[in-house]
Amino acid sequence: MTDCIFCKIVAKEIPAEFLYEDGVCVVFRDIRPKMATHLLIISKKHIHSIAEMEEGDEKIVGHMVRAGKILLAKMGLSGYIIQINVGKDGGQEVFHLHIHLLSKLS
Ligand code: 5GP
Ligand code: ZN
Repeated sequence: MTDCIFCKIVAKEIPAEFLYEDGVCVVFRDIRPKMATHLLIISKKHIHSIAEMEEGDEKIVGHMVRAGKILLAKMGLSGYIIQINVGKDGGQEVFHLHIHLLSKLS
């Protein structure tokens, strides 16, 4: 998707410091953090939102949750909030699947 900001971040056309990267997802800090720790896990595949998941995409979402768990454990954070905004009415602003990882601890 040429006009998608998160596709551009995945392609390294827009800078973001990746805290984690594998074949399926990348993790970086939210530009407008809402808590002391606010990370975004985004899929490398352009999926518009949870509402537009296709068959097989559940593996990607499960993988993303697990990648977040591993990264946060490495960062010493054992408790955190997972948030996925779905659709305009659900507060979604960027229409490329992402999971917010939030913690009051840093
Ligand atoms: P949404 O509301 O779609 O669930 O969340 C999108 C999030 O992406 C927002 O919290 C916003 O601050 C973050 N964001 C938007 N553009 C950028 C960007 O260019 N870089 C980073 N690091 N975060 C972004
Ligand atoms: Zn995209």
